[in-house]
Amino acid sequence: MIKANYPTDKFQDIQTPFYYYDLDVLRTTLDEVNLQSKKSDFHVHYAMKANVNESVLAVIKEAGLGADCVSGGEVEAAIKAGIAPSKVVFAGVGKADWEINLGLDNDIFCFNVESIPELEVINELAAAKGKVAKVALRINPNVSANTHHYITTGLSENKFGINMSELDKVVDLFPTLANVQLIGIHFHIGSQITDMTSFQGLCVRVNEIQDYFVARNISLQHINVGGGLGINYEHPNHFPIPDFEAYFKIFRDHLVLRPNQTLHFELGRAVVAQCGSLISKVLYIKEGTSKKFAILDAGFTDLIRPALYQAYHLIENLSSDAAIEPYDIVGPICESSDTFAKEFNLNQTKRGDIIAIRSAGAYGEIMASQYNLRKLPKGYTSDQLK
Ligand SMILES: *Cc1c(COP(=O)(O)O)cnc(C)c1O
Repeated sequence: MIKANYPTDKFQDIQTPFYYYDLDVLRTTLDEVNLQSKKSDFHVHYAMKANVNESVLAVIKEAGLGADCVSGGEVEAAIKAGIAPSKVVFAGVGKADWEINLGLDNDIFCFNVESIPELEVINELAAAKGKVAKVALRINPNVSANTHHYITTGLSENKFGINMSELDKVVDLFPTLANVQLIGIHFHIGSQITDMTSFQGLCVRVNEIQDYFVARNISLQHINVGGGLGINYEHPNHFPIPDFEAYFKIFRDHLVLRPNQTLHFELGRAVVAQCGSLISKVLYIKEGTSKKFAILDAGFTDLIRPALYQAYHLIENLSSDAAIEPYDIVGPICESSDTFAKEFNLNQTKRGDIIAIRSAGAYGEIMASQYNLRKLPKGYTSDQLK
């Protein structure tokens, strides 16, 4: 069995649980993103909500990606990391006034607008500053993403985005709003999408929606197709890098850009998931009547994906090469949902062994909580532990 090649001896001295980021994997991933996206001058904005660990962000900034933010805090973090405001897009269904003002003060690239009342408020706040806000309409393309229902966002009954049926009304509003400029349209159909035909379906819809704007003589400079490219949670050692070649090719082959239009992407998970692992120690092996429990010092407060989405993560015992046995791998939190995996095959495990929960670089550390008054996990990089 191939396992992660991690500095397990160094891990012994660090308080577990913690996140470990392999920056070689991250850099290789970013090289591939750039190689494949630059074949067509596509613009990639990193979806900040996946992970804002400072060392990870520094590497992403170095690679030249822009930022996709969904809160004022993320806009601040992107700018603090040195990402140019001219590469920052700001989405979200509930932008507060201070968050809109923050975007305006920093002259960010674009607000992705999700409703008519939001558009009116952006116009008002921009007017108060004597500015014109650049906006893209987040349109609900009604494309199914074939993913978990909690993380599909592109269907019509959804809190996200503007429905096609409302589009006339929104478009008619623009001539009356002097302080917003429509520069593009924006889509995001869901997350952890591995079936490329979903993206192909999105391309077809975008082409149709572009016809709508052309028919109304509205020229759009930017098309933003969001993120959602999935990763291989089953085999992170064999498939550490998502298939960016196939992904960008789908858009190159199927999305018809009009003259002088640029195409934008907002990738989160695909950029950072595989570089991160949650590192934990085994506290106890509890022998049940018919099964064994490996009780870890990490719980859903550190990584909530299994409890929240029944998500699968590969789990490895980095301290053992002994024969494989099935364990229910659980955390210490007072909720039965605090289970990372059931009947999971680990090399025979004992108290003190170091466990890696893989593919945890996205929606891991950033979603940690202090429930049960637990300490937040820290993040360390391979550069720091050399
Ligand atoms: C979450 C989100 C993304 C990133 O999604 P991934 O699945 O991590 O790539 C991109 N755009 C928007 C609007 C989002 O909400």
